[in-house]
Amino acid sequence: MKKLVIVGGVAGGASAAARARRLDESLEITVFERGRYISYANCGLPYHLSGTIPSRDSLLLMTPELFNQRFRVKIHTAHLVTSLNPDRHTVSVRNLDTGEEFQEHYDKLILSPGSSPILPPIPGVDDPDVCVLWTIPDMDAIKGRIKSGRSAVVVGGGFIGVEVAENLAEAGVKTTLIEMKNTILPHLDDEMTVPLEKALVKGGVNLRTSRAVKAFRRDTKGLVAELDTGEELPVDFAVISAGVKPNGELARGTGIEVTRGGALVVNRRMETTVKDIYAVGDAVQVTDPVTGNMVSVPLAGPANRQGRIAAENALGGNSVYKGTYGTSIVKVFHLAAGGTGASEKTLLENGIEYRKLYIHPASHASYYPGGACMTIKLLFDPCGKILGMQAVGEDGVDKRIDVVAAALGNDLTVEDLQELELSYAPPFGSAKDAVNYAGFVAGNILSGLTSQVYPDELPSDAFLLDVREKEETASGSIPGSTLIPLGELRDRLDELPKDREIVIYCAVGIRGYAAERILKQRGYQAANLSGGFASWSMFQQTGQYRNAEDTLREGVSAPASHFESCRYTGD
Ligand code: FAD
Repeated sequence: MKKLVIVGGVAGGASAAARARRLDESLEITVFERGRYISYANCGLPYHLSGTIPSRDSLLLMTPELFNQRFRVKIHTAHLVTSLNPDRHTVSVRNLDTGEEFQEHYDKLILSPGSSPILPPIPGVDDPDVCVLWTIPDMDAIKGRIKSGRSAVVVGGGFIGVEVAENLAEAGVKTTLIEMKNTILPHLDDEMTVPLEKALVKGGVNLRTSRAVKAFRRDTKGLVAELDTGEELPVDFAVISAGVKPNGELARGTGIEVTRGGALVVNRRMETTVKDIYAVGDAVQVTDPVTGNMVSVPLAGPANRQGRIAAENALGGNSVYKGTYGTSIVKVFHLAAGGTGASEKTLLENGIEYRKLYIHPASHASYYPGGACMTIKLLFDPCGKILGMQAVGEDGVDKRIDVVAAALGNDLTVEDLQELELSYAPPFGSAKDAVNYAGFVAGNILSGLTSQVYPDELPSDAFLLDVREKEETASGSIPGSTLIPLGELRDRLDELPKDREIVIYCAVGIRGYAAERILKQRGYQAANLSGGFASWSMFQQTGQYRNAEDTLREGVSAPASHFESCRYTGD
């Protein structure tokens, strides 16, 4: 092979170019990028809006000159690849500055054209004050509209929309976030978003879920967003973040298989269906190893790793991409949230049998200052195979997601999680780390030591037993429950029915499990509420923090936050 051509010069494309050069000094490598920037930090764009990343230049990781100096790669920015001609092994290119058109020959071609933000087909979406955040010029355009006291609407509560809303609010912009669904961040299960929605509202974002923008119009005062509820929001500008579509159109009609949604079909070597053409990144569809489905997962990690693999294979290697688990994390003010593998809703949609648990462990030893409670939800199959995990909290969330992601990617089971030897000193974790602890609870579920009940499935005829201390009930109780603190339980057994299921709860599930074991060994039908009162609160609060203005107007008072309740005890 003499010449490698790459389409797209950011995450996947730049990775492929750098890897190819490291493997072969003699290769001619040419990259065509239609934009003016290469290898920039698109994931950092939202944080420049608030000034959290103060320097715009720090987002520009590479210039074409520097890339060429370091890797001897010819980078042509402002060059659009207009068509692929596999029969002739050429691509057609247009210089966007001069209008010149030419053909470029390749021996191997790697496509990394990314994806594009979806603009909902609604009137007024082409207004100059309706923006997207996708590229450096997009960021500049939004940044130029930011002034303290101005107002904006962000349309779409996915991770980019949430990041944009947070950063606009931090920049002093009066920000409304509109999400069509009941909760934000659709890759998370609904109850896991509760603390995040609360954080958005507390951070000053007017969160309005279960609503859609149906049009933008101009009136004498400026831009108005019309909602499907009939409400009208006068704003200075809007940012649309309503999902992305893969940029696979370039390959249509070339023999490369393209899905109806525009994603490029590749095999595990990142080869398209046409010889000598590889594709990577947001533009391709990949296997979800948990469901077996073909999916498009627009994330930077997969794009970078696929770029390396495609380069290796284009140069005669035999590297394999195993699939994308969708491991991700997002910051929402003081909280972090994310996960790996399938969510519960995905498992349900795909008819995959699962078990689940909630725990609310401290991020590090409770006696060392600065720890915070987190919530972990673990999903696994009846044989203990890990299917997915989600976590939310103030501290240590990234570490737990990544440990479980590594376990998931290597086919470990929940029993293996019990055995993981993880780093520990009081400022960083606990001798039994949160991940070990999730493994212990899962093991207890699978061995039948505990029967878990979930807040949304409380049996209506069950006897509800609260084993917390009396003072803890100040943060709320499940209606209809009877309080018998764990320490008194053995002496007050005669207050419990033998002919009804007893559902036990404490603050986060640990004392509930101890009580369950006491009762089961004495012949009672007992089950433990998974994650205790903290989990129950999350389910109760699902949707509570939407529509902040309504919540305030109607005086809805939410129960204490689940983080407050789990911080309260030594559970
Ligand atoms: P890109 O990096 O988008 O590169 C594709 C390039 O191809 C583009 O520059 C485009 O101009 C060029 N191109 C397209 N068609 C042509 C053509 N015909 N001719 C020439 N050039 C062409 N992911 C995470 O994992 N974590 C995050 O926190 C995160 N945050 C993000 C925040 C924002 C605001 C954005 C926009 C994305 C974020 N992502 C994040 C997603 C991540 O950036 C993408 O998944 C990743 O960049 C995809 O890499 P790619 O190479 O497929 O596409």
